[in-house]
Amino acid sequence: MLYHSLKNHRDLVSFEDAVLRGLASDGGLYIPECIPKLKPQFFHNLSRYDIYTIAMTVIKPYIGKSIPEKSIYNIIHDTLNFPFPLKRIHDHIHVLELFHGPTLAFKDVGAEFMAGCLSFFSKKIEKNVTVLVATSGDTGGAVAKGFHKKPGIEVIILYPYNGISSLQKEQITSLGNNILALEIDGNFDDCQKMVKKAFLDKEVQKKYILTSANSINVARWLPQMFYYFLAYQQIIEDPIELIFSVPSGNFGNICAGMMAEKMGLPIKFFIASTNVNDTIPRFLKTGKYNPLPVRKTISNAMDISDPSNFSRIWNLYEKNMSQLRKKLYSYQFTDEETLDIIEMVWKKHKYMLDPHGAIGYLGLLQYLQEVKKTSSIAIFLETAHPIKFIDDMPLFLRKKIIVPKELEIFLSAKRKKQKISLSNDFNVFKNWLLERK
Ligand SMILES: *Cc1c(COP(=O)(O)O)cnc(C)c1O
Repeated sequence: MLYHSLKNHRDLVSFEDAVLRGLASDGGLYIPECIPKLKPQFFHNLSRYDIYTIAMTVIKPYIGKSIPEKSIYNIIHDTLNFPFPLKRIHDHIHVLELFHGPTLAFKDVGAEFMAGCLSFFSKKIEKNVTVLVATSGDTGGAVAKGFHKKPGIEVIILYPYNGISSLQKEQITSLGNNILALEIDGNFDDCQKMVKKAFLDKEVQKKYILTSANSINVARWLPQMFYYFLAYQQIIEDPIELIFSVPSGNFGNICAGMMAEKMGLPIKFFIASTNVNDTIPRFLKTGKYNPLPVRKTISNAMDISDPSNFSRIWNLYEKNMSQLRKKLYSYQFTDEETLDIIEMVWKKHKYMLDPHGAIGYLGLLQYLQEVKKTSSIAIFLETAHPIKFIDDMPLFLRKKIIVPKELEIFLSAKRKKQKISLSNDFNVFKNWLLERK
């Protein structure tokens, strides 16, 4: 399989090059040149396969000859080492829990998978690779954990001094070794700008092989297809029709789902559920793409107004609005609605949503209300554990949150925090990059 930039369909690169570069030199995102269709037999037998076989079948065509099969299998084995349970909440509504990984958010899968691929490539080219990433919270923790102690790779994470939760900060600063935490005296936008400038800087390029670790990178984006297949595997009723509601920020996760559908997974509709950063719901309604300044919400991992991966979705539907509207609905919700539904679902169904999953659930309700009844199985993705956002949960629920084992171990260990504080001036950052070892 080869990849081309969204801005230039002629320049083709391998999976290896797409992963090592992150973004094409023309600034476009990489997309696969075609989407392979899986055989009906595969779907028919899905419930009998183990999760590794499923993941292997799904991802293999996208990697091609870049990594030998045995090594892909090992990477998958390291990646899918926690459960992805599908639970029924009420009626046709189910939740797919994606927060059982080491940093309690769904980004663990993409981060771990990408770390595996990158270590393989670093060894092959016999060069060290530096991952440079700006985080507004969850990405930093998942990337730090996924890449920790991976040979041949160092990770530099820029996070805003005042913009992330104490738990998120703990996850980024306590690992050490090949993980460097830079606390920036500025906001997330400053961090992101500094990272983007570093990628384009000739002197920095001379010293480092730099790549990115957000969902722009194909190795972090594509493994998210696994969730949709693993959900399907857990449904036994037949024949079924599936609807997925995905709490969306940068639209990487939902875009992976839409790829899974193109590969043959029988998904009838997708619902992109957002907070008040509602560029996509407005775009689908009006046909005008008009991002507004970002607004801060309690579902902060989705505080994005110009989602990078939407261009991949738009391309997948050949920039055809009427085709896209047949497959994708999109709704937006306020913090108030989010808190109300968390409370309601707890009281009525004894299920605790986090603010992101709550938006996914709200999206399903809205859709079901609009189309009245459905016999479809409706699934929303629960992307993080409520403990990660405890300070924003309804007061009466905070004491009821059960602290997961992974975190108890994490919090009890007295770990040294390691970070370097820098101003938000790019030149200060650049000098730091150029002068170290
Ligand atoms: C990153 C994130 C999202 C948004 O996912 P995208 O792929 O960026 O749309 C949703 N929920 C949580 C908890 C996240 O960390």
